[in-house]
Amino acid sequence: MTVLFWPSDDLPEGWPAILQARIPEEEVRVWPDVGSPEAVEFAILSHPGSGELGRFPNLKAVFSEGAGADSLLTNPDIPAHVPITRVFDPDQAREMSEWTLYMVLHFHRLMHEYAELRAAGRWQALGRRNTHDTRVGVLGLGIMGDLTARRLAALEFPVTGWSRSPKQIDGVPCFHGAEGFEEILGRSDILVCGLALTPETHGIIDATALAAMPRGSFLVNMARGGHVVEDDLFAALESGHIAGAGLDVFEVEPPAPDHPCWTHPRIVWTPHIAGFVDPATAADQMAENIRRTRAGEPLLYVIDRNKGY
Ligand code: NDP
Repeated sequence: MTVLFWPSDDLPEGWPAILQARIPEEEVRVWPDVGSPEAVEFAILSHPGSGELGRFPNLKAVFSEGAGADSLLTNPDIPAHVPITRVFDPDQAREMSEWTLYMVLHFHRLMHEYAELRAAGRWQALGRRNTHDTRVGVLGLGIMGDLTARRLAALEFPVTGWSRSPKQIDGVPCFHGAEGFEEILGRSDILVCGLALTPETHGIIDATALAAMPRGSFLVNMARGGHVVEDDLFAALESGHIAGAGLDVFEVEPPAPDHPCWTHPRIVWTPHIAGFVDPATAADQMAENIRRTRAGEPLLYVIDRNKGY
């Protein structure tokens, strides 16, 4: 039976072979080399651009090749009874937290201001800010957010967290729900977004949310571009209400040539590289989920379609 890969730009080379080695009894094919549509039982993809999924009457499961499955959930061709799984890679979570620590330290230690001073040819020391005075709020306390909040707290930043359901994390006061959102915004000198992207969280960081953050605060987004209303962010940067932003993700990737991020002095950005999935880890989990499907056992890391993540 066939396991079908949809190649994407960010798919590491050799990925299909890594999986094939784990499941010699299955046939791993790479789209558009589909073979018999009836034989396709598993599909692996990261983007919804596979309008062809409806062609496979015996599809048993869809595996996201990454941690997020938000784009797959918008694919109407994935039948409701077909489970969608994500990858859970602890190494990726560590990388995501490292990226975020870097951004938090960048703004906390005023690296954005030193960059401007250097560009102006000025040798000038700026004032000191105590770690204990830089309050960091982490939106989303899932696999990435939980580790990030703990590591920030270990660096002695006063950290608070926010999620959909109540959470308990040692040393990190946690909020949830709409009231909790107001609360965390108001006490975040640096706001980190680690939310899942769902219809509820799409555009959650808009003009109202940004206005609720303290003047001179910073935004760090490791999650999805869709969480931030980019026009509102740039307006807040222009007004000075938001003093800087660290972005790994954009609503449209890559951003258009006239997107302000290319030139804005208060934006530090990277091209969606905060955390990589290890193909070996992902292949282990996919092979295990194929085995579980065959054995009629519950799959690992299934996306809850009602929650959207
Ligand atoms: P998880 O699914 O593990 O966690 C998502 C978190 O979002 C949970 O804490 C969840 O709350 C919270 N959440 C979802 N909806 C709401 C809501 N309406 N209100 C409040 N909280 C909500 O995701 P991950 O930690 O694995 O990933 C986090 C983000 O990072 C995702 O958007 C993912 O796509 C992105 N990502 C980005 C990468 C990059 O390279 N930039 C790489 C990997 C992931 P609760 O815990 O209560 O369910």
